Parts: sequence; C-alpha cells; structure tokens
Amino acid sequence: MTGSAPATAASPRICPNCDGFATAAVSSGDRDASGQLPTLAVDCPACHGAGTLPASAVQFVGGRA
Ligand SMILES: [Zn+2]
Repeated sequence: MTGSAPATAASPRICPNCDGFATAAVSSGDRDASGQLPTLAVDCPACHGAGTLPASAVQFVGGRA
C-alpha cells in the first residue's frame, strides 16, 4: 500500500475559499470559429492562485457557520 503525502503541521492550509482549486477555467459561453470553447483562467481572489494560505490567514478567513 502506498500512502499519500503526509500532512505536516508546517504545511500551509488549503485555501478555504477555493478548496485548493485556485485557478478556475471560466468559459465565455461562445464557441469560436473553429469550434473551440475559449476559457479564461481566473485566480482565486483569496489566495491569488496559490491554493493555500498561511495558517494565520486561514484562522482569519475561516468561520463557516
Ligand atoms: Zn483560494
């Protein structure tokens, strides 16, 4: 059995705003002339595309009721 990467206390927390999916591909809804669906990469505003936050920042941002 192979384990996943161990979580350490020093590792940054997954961003609670995007759950680690820091960059979302957003389509404009219209296909271009070649049939492709163009997408824009939008970074999470909370972690700025990092997907993680320092533990202290998570304490500040957290608080889901
Ligand atoms: Zn984020």
